[in-house]
Amino acid sequence: MKYDIAIIGGGPVGNYLANLLAREFEVVVVEARVSFGEKACTGIIGAESYEALKLPKVAVLNRLRGAVFYSKIQSFEIKRNSPQAYLVDRKALEKRLAERAVKKGAEYFMGTRFMGFRNGKAVLQRFNQQFEIEAQFYVGADGVRSRVAQEMGAKTKAEFLSGYEVEIVGEFERPDFVEVWVNKELNRDFFFWVAPVNESLARVGTFGSLDSLFRFLKMRMLKAGSIVEFKAGNVGLGVRKPWIKNNIAIVGDAALQIKPTTAGGIAYGMFCAHALAYSLINGRPADYENLCRDIRRQISFGMRVRKIFTGLDQEHIERIFEVLGSSEAVELIERTADFDDHAKTVKAIIRSPRLLAKLLKISPMLLRYLV
Ligand SMILES: Cc1cc2nc3c(=O)[nH]c(=O)nc-3n(C[C@H](O)[C@H](O)[C@H](O)COP(=O)(O)OP(=O)(O)OC[C@H]3O[C@@H](n4cnc5c(N)ncnc54)[C@H](O)[C@@H]3O)c2cc1C
Repeated sequence: MKYDIAIIGGGPVGNYLANLLAREFEVVVVEARVSFGEKACTGIIGAESYEALKLPKVAVLNRLRGAVFYSKIQSFEIKRNSPQAYLVDRKALEKRLAERAVKKGAEYFMGTRFMGFRNGKAVLQRFNQQFEIEAQFYVGADGVRSRVAQEMGAKTKAEFLSGYEVEIVGEFERPDFVEVWVNKELNRDFFFWVAPVNESLARVGTFGSLDSLFRFLKMRMLKAGSIVEFKAGNVGLGVRKPWIKNNIAIVGDAALQIKPTTAGGIAYGMFCAHALAYSLINGRPADYENLCRDIRRQISFGMRVRKIFTGLDQEHIERIFEVLGSSEAVELIERTADFDDHAKTVKAIIRSPRLLAKLLKISPMLLRYLV
């Protein structure tokens, strides 16, 4: 079987890319799972990005217009009048994108695993049957443990984190606000999030250890016995290079196109899918990495913020909360906050001499990594 483009991995990014390419090329998508949407993922996507990417409205479960940030002893709130992020149903998102791609002409091999390359062909396995397909160009959209990235020799020194997430029944009085809890005594590596689906159901998670998630649930007065769904998965924060070599490219989590501040990867992966599709349609695949330079900048900025975060203890966090919770900072954050461009807000804070002076007193690390 011969194709123009074979996309390995039918997650959100692979399916999205198939949509962009299916009218121009003979496209095949190879997906190891037998159905969509099993992956651990809270499904929060910036509203602006969601609209810009023209993602299916049917997958939106909830609209979030603000966040409440909690430390161990204080809190502050950032809110907007319009939704800033959507909480989506991953299965509906992936399936709808796959349906759209098929209608445009893409072919899907579900329940089929990519095993490696042999003589320029992709070796696939469906249950106990092995076969080969040939394509002019191969794309690895096969997630953080990408087999395609391994095969093309991409290297990384990224930090890999295990994420744990539960869907839990409780009382969530403000279903349009996500809660972000920073408590280094419970989890040194990451924050906890509580993302309501509605008034009585929320997705609660963290990256680090399962034990810390259960301790958080207890502290947040949510009962482990009220968990109705449990998922675990991995993210990689850092750089995996290269993103393209000869006739093979990687995209999405496979290329670690993940926001290091929140570990969200759907929007960044899809923006890079656009860059890849554009370069392929124009017959200049080598332009792909360069066309993703904004995302690369965001990732490298996010890595600096992550370095700061991991180096701080709870006392530092409390002092940062005092500064960021001030009316001056809240007003500035509300004015500049952009769900997928955290650099914009941080730069605005740094440009405020008073806020910068207060932050620098807390830790010289901030000077080293941000200014
Ligand atoms: C706990 C947790 C919470 C998260 N929350 C969010 C969030 O709120 N918002 C957000 O934007 N991101 C979030 N993420 C990250 C998000 O899940 C990923 O960035 C996103 O799934 C990346 O999409 P992808 O299509 O690149 O990769 P994936 O979703 O990993 O899809 C890859 C696909 O490739 C398939 N595959 C793998 N290997 C093979 C093979 N050899 N052959 C064939 N198929 C293969 C897999 O079955 C899978 O379907 C979260 C991650 C975790 C772990």
